Amino acid sequence: MKTVMQDGFGRQIDYLRMSVTDRCDFRCVYCMAQNMTFLPRQQVLTLEELQRLAGVFVGLGVRKIRLTGGEPLIRPGIVDLCRHIAALPGLRELVMTSNGSQLGRLARPLVEAGVKRINISLDSLDPARFRAITRNGDLAQVLAGIEAARDAGFARVKLNCVVMKGRNFDEVPALVQYAIDQGIDISFIEEMPLGEVGRERGESFCSSDEVRALIERDHTLLDSTESSGGPARYVRLARHAQTRIGFISPNSHNFCATCNRVRMTVEGRLLLCLGQENALDLRGLLRRYPLDDAPLIEAIHTALRGKPQRHDFSPDGSVQILRFMSVSGG
Ligand code: SAM
Ligand code: SF4
Repeated sequence: MKTVMQDGFGRQIDYLRMSVTDRCDFRCVYCMAQNMTFLPRQQVLTLEELQRLAGVFVGLGVRKIRLTGGEPLIRPGIVDLCRHIAALPGLRELVMTSNGSQLGRLARPLVEAGVKRINISLDSLDPARFRAITRNGDLAQVLAGIEAARDAGFARVKLNCVVMKGRNFDEVPALVQYAIDQGIDISFIEEMPLGEVGRERGESFCSSDEVRALIERDHTLLDSTESSGGPARYVRLARHAQTRIGFISPNSHNFCATCNRVRMTVEGRLLLCLGQENALDLRGLLRRYPLDDAPLIEAIHTALRGKPQRHDFSPDGSVQILRFMSVSGG
């Protein structure tokens, strides 16, 4: 049995992003529409099914798993799921992406369960703007969650910020300063055209180059070759060694040549590329063969050979993918 997953272009796949729920307590303007319909329960993988699939992928050579969503921390039983996945022999690290709203109570249990690093979304430091972007988020609760994460003992805490003209571009310097003050990293993300969210994305599109130029008004940036195994390009701040700044630029700097990852939706669809529709239904196989992983493994190897070479997002923001980010698992 092969224990390395390779796609048709020779890229080795060792990173799985698993969505554990499509639901969320926020409705961020770039991620969801105001009125969302969520999946009925029977279409969602159970915790046992998620755990089984994680085990299959680690057996196939996955070394890093990121749990995401939707908001992973609103899924009941999430801490136990983390504990089981973190204990899988062969897994190097279990990490998570969260909106931070539940971290005040869950940061420490997550560290104890074996979650090594956490990314937390933060798009504004102004309570009214934060509420407008998330449509119902409470900034104070999220900032308390970030501080709880910083103190809980994660190997690294990183902020994620989707930058939009007319909404939070002018806050980039303040967000950098906040990351410096907290002694944590921050990544700035270009908005991707995933799903119809009820507004024109092209109008607010902001490239990583523009964000970088704004930061360079206050700071000297040192290019770095560091990688955290994801698509971010990092720079260091000359005067603040403990904070790194990442740029995730799916539109302006295509990073597909070094793609090492696949995604799984909470319905068990294996997405071979965030920006293309190619997918494999694992839930059907999982339920048809409750005690035999061999059919799953064979289907995964076959599907990987069809992993697309690249996505084709462009800065005009035209929607090519009808899935919302909350469905794909961001
Ligand atoms: N709820 C968690 C959170 O917000 O961090 C995890 C899921 S969320 C879908 C994961 C990441 O995707 C977040 O950092 C979010 O900002 C980002 N995201 C969502 N929609 C996006 C879009 N259309 N373009 C770029 N990033 C997006
Ligand atoms: Fe929820 Fe995260 Fe999407 Fe915001 S980005 S709506 S917090 S899943």
